[in-house]
Amino acid sequence: MKIAEPPRCSHCRALMKKMEMPPEAGYDNPYMYVCFNDECSYFINGLKWMKEKYEVNSSYRQMVNPLTGSANPLPVWSKTAMRDRIID
Ligand SMILES: [Zn+2]
Repeated sequence: MKIAEPPRCSHCRALMKKMEMPPEAGYDNPYMYVCFNDECSYFINGLKWMKEKYEVNSSYRQMVNPLTGSANPLPVWSKTAMRDRIID
């Protein structure tokens, strides 16, 4: 299922942002839709889990592949990570 419009995050219902992927990530398309809401339960739970488990402040954000419509976690090392890749 191809997606042309930014979808809403399945965890927090926020409108997802278009994010340019680094070429070295090895995806077959140049951008993804990512939930950059810092209040997102997915992000908050990931933050708690990584803190308890590994003592680090990294987490995951919800990411949707516009070519397939499938959702995957995007690992982020901080709240601001990847924000410079948002395309508006
Ligand atoms: Zn979200």
